[in-house]
Amino acid sequence: MKIQMKTPLVELDGDEMTRILWKMIKERLIEPFVDLKAEYYDLGLVNRDATGDQVTTDAAEAIKRLGVGVKCATITANKQRVEEYNLKQMWKSPNATIRAILDGTVFRAPIICEGITPYIPGWKKPITIARHAYGDVYKAAEAVVSGGKTELLLTDGEGKETRLPVHEFDGGGVLMATYNSDASIESFARACFNYALGVRQDLWFSTKDTILKQYDGRFKDIFDNIYAGEYATRFKAAGITYFYTLIDDAVARAVRSGGGFVWALKNYDGDVLSDMVAAAYGSLSMMTSVLASPGGQFEYEAAHGTVTRHYYRHLKGESTSTNPIATIFAWSGALKKRGELDGNSALAAFAGRLERAVMDTLAAGVMTGDLAGLYNGAATAVTSEEFIRSVAGKL
Ligand code: NAP
Ligand code: MG
Repeated sequence: MKIQMKTPLVELDGDEMTRILWKMIKERLIEPFVDLKAEYYDLGLVNRDATGDQVTTDAAEAIKRLGVGVKCATITANKQRVEEYNLKQMWKSPNATIRAILDGTVFRAPIICEGITPYIPGWKKPITIARHAYGDVYKAAEAVVSGGKTELLLTDGEGKETRLPVHEFDGGGVLMATYNSDASIESFARACFNYALGVRQDLWFSTKDTILKQYDGRFKDIFDNIYAGEYATRFKAAGITYFYTLIDDAVARAVRSGGGFVWALKNYDGDVLSDMVAAAYGSLSMMTSVLASPGGQFEYEAAHGTVTRHYYRHLKGESTSTNPIATIFAWSGALKKRGELDGNSALAAFAGRLERAVMDTLAAGVMTGDLAGLYNGAATAVTSEEFIRSVAGKL
């Protein structure tokens, strides 16, 4: 008998090569074992265009309602895509739309595989990067100036003005102002504390508060207060710690560490360091991503995109060796979370078996081309379809 689900999850289909993998994963690895209950939303670019992008908003609202979503990679439209798909307009990034509705923090974690040594060989356990995805330089006001005196002008609610001198230019230069809000930093902090408790790993947080005493100091104080008021007891009970340090120190410690912690970072730091960490673990195709909202909703996806180059080869009838592991782990992550939230241990256990079947397949030396090149042992490079069939066999 198939494993039953109590509550549906939200399924967000996507584009190109990952859309092809999506269907295979569902048909071969999920549906034969689980009586899948899913609310389906087609976020493929064709349907986003047909619905005026309403489908993206509907899918995000569904995640809000049902608590768990699993998303396939999607094309973010640009000028070239507008022509390729004859789009009505250049639709916004679906991930940005979903993030704006769920207001979350993105956690990215590598899938560690025996036999693939990270470029930093001491990293035996995963490092999860938690990136604050609001404000700072991504919403900056900036200018190239030819000279003159610059100051920040704050007009408060009563119309009272405060001026903050910035710099007197003696020739040309550049200028920028950034901001963040207490509300967003607070929800970032709670998302990080909750996530660390969920995975039972230490939480690190690092900024440059020795230089930006007000700006980064505010981040640090908000984290400290929320930790002391709401999480310290639970962290102690779980046997994990919260640790704040300067970003330079954190980078040096991270390189020397064995991994196995969650690292909370401001928006820009998280952008840069998540790519560095992903590359150091070996491959973008082994990186999972989950959006955790302060409302307690979760959306799982692979960190990579739609793998366009492979898709064009697929369209020409060539078989491709695209790695489906991060997408499989998006499904297992979502099913595990659904199981946890519903008290459905059979479903959570299945998710664990699915992940083990992937690991057993790799341990047998069967893998897609991207990994075969990194593998220490004897490896057979197979197509995506052959890989998924092997995993199904182990399951
Ligand atoms: P990408 O799809 O991640 O692919 C970049 C390259 O990385 C691929 O060409 C491939 O290298 C390698 N790669 C990535 N995933 C792989 C996998 N699973 N197996 C094997 N190799 C893999 O990034 P992109 O080409 O920059 O973007 C393609 C489209 O995806 C764009 O339309 C972009 O908007 C979208 N995108 C979506 C998301 C999302 O939905 N979360 C994220 C990023 C990008 P080789 O060609 O060398 O084999
Ligand atoms: Mg980046």
